[in-house]
Amino acid sequence: MNETIATIATPTAEDLAPRVLTRPQHRLSRGDVSAHALKVLYRLHRSGYLAYLVGGSVRDLLLGRRPKDFDIATNARPQEIRRLFRNSRIIGRRFRLAHVFFRDAIVEVATFRASPEAPESPNDWHEGEEETAEEETATEPLPARPEEDVYGTPAEDARRRDFTVNALFYNIADYTVIDHVGGIADLERGVIRTIGDPDQRFIEDPVRMMRALEYAVRLGFSVDPPTVEAIERQQALIAEASSSRLTYELLECLRSGSAARIHEAWRRAGLFSRAFPDLPLDTDDSVQVLEVIDAQIAAGSPLADASLLGGFFLPRFLALAVEETDGNGRVNNAQLLARLRAIIAPAATSMHLSNQALHLMHQGLFTLTKMVRPPDRGRQVVRISRQDYFPVAWELHGFAARLGLIPAATRQGWERALQRLGKGEQPVDEERSERRRPRRRRRRRRPTA
Ligand code: ATP
Ligand code: MG
Repeated sequence: MNETIATIATPTAEDLAPRVLTRPQHRLSRGDVSAHALKVLYRLHRSGYLAYLVGGSVRDLLLGRRPKDFDIATNARPQEIRRLFRNSRIIGRRFRLAHVFFRDAIVEVATFRASPEAPESPNDWHEGEEETAEEETATEPLPARPEEDVYGTPAEDARRRDFTVNALFYNIADYTVIDHVGGIADLERGVIRTIGDPDQRFIEDPVRMMRALEYAVRLGFSVDPPTVEAIERQQALIAEASSSRLTYELLECLRSGSAARIHEAWRRAGLFSRAFPDLPLDTDDSVQVLEVIDAQIAAGSPLADASLLGGFFLPRFLALAVEETDGNGRVNNAQLLARLRAIIAPAATSMHLSNQALHLMHQGLFTLTKMVRPPDRGRQVVRISRQDYFPVAWELHGFAARLGLIPAATRQGWERALQRLGKGEQPVDEERSERRRPRRRRRRRRPTA
């Protein structure tokens, strides 16, 4: 049985008919698709184009899970998409796609692409989101590539995707699910399998190795043995992946609610320490931080990126703070700050963290030295809680308390003091913490063609 599927998934099987599930044969219902995405799908369809829901949303809806976002693929060219939607903008350079803007959401619409573009463009996934200024400069000038080479058929578009379960299409014209790669069978059996030769696909884009394990954990799937074996062979390549894409993948993991288990899978596969050599995560405490983060995500509290990343440094920092405290409880601030900088700086550089992220992490961690005892003066609480980094300090303080690194009574003392100020539930300023993400320069760029 495996062999049949492998044949279907081979990129050379270009003219094999796809497997199609008609409306009654699957559980994906229009009612589960966001209203914005439906609007875009229908307008494309009514204008005579193919309009498919693609990627993670189809996978998740077929599994009865709630998708994170709804991506669309079409045979309309970016300029045509642009003309159809006044509220849209073309982004990216090589593989241009359009963002259709709504008040509270962005729907990404991509033109079907041909395979296999990856060797020159692993950064083209999540166009516009993750390249840092440095990398952009490094990749310019871009190799000119005729448009006709870039765009492809739906079958080609399915085959250039990473895993079979990520390559299913939902066709708005007749509500069918279209499968060019054996994804339906893999969804049913709960298997993550690369499309095509796994070694080749990981050499094209090593980040796929991390993604394979991440999906397996998140969906409760197993990884197809040939895919596992290819990861064993290619693990060292992860060190060469773009740092901004690795950081993006790490944040996805931290926000997923399964960070501890994903980390464990990455670590066992030899990927974690190669991808993030400067993150201290070998002590038990650090792994427990991930469990604390998972518990908070499960409880529905969103955490700032600076808190998620700062968590890696928390146990080590608190140990340093003890070392830098004298017998009278006085902290040598200058010395402690210097040591804090020294543990964060290598990661900040190798992971391309923004100055804002760095600022929030430094100050968020450092502020904990002022919060190791319940507050004794209201003024102190007012002063600290007004700082831009306080929400990060507060989240890190929560991690420390749950880890038993700060007494529960201290946490409660601060909670009460903040409640008196009406700040107990202060949300993190996402605008600011968002800025730690690599800058979105591409979006602002005008299309060159
Ligand atoms: P999530 O639930 O995490 O959003 P997703 O499957 O939607 O999962 P995205 O990272 O949003 O994942 O990517 C959308 C789709 O783009 C994927 O489902 C896959 O088809 C394709 N894709 C993303 N990254 C890659 C990659 N590195 N190589 C090949 N295809 C990719
Ligand atoms: Mg997605």
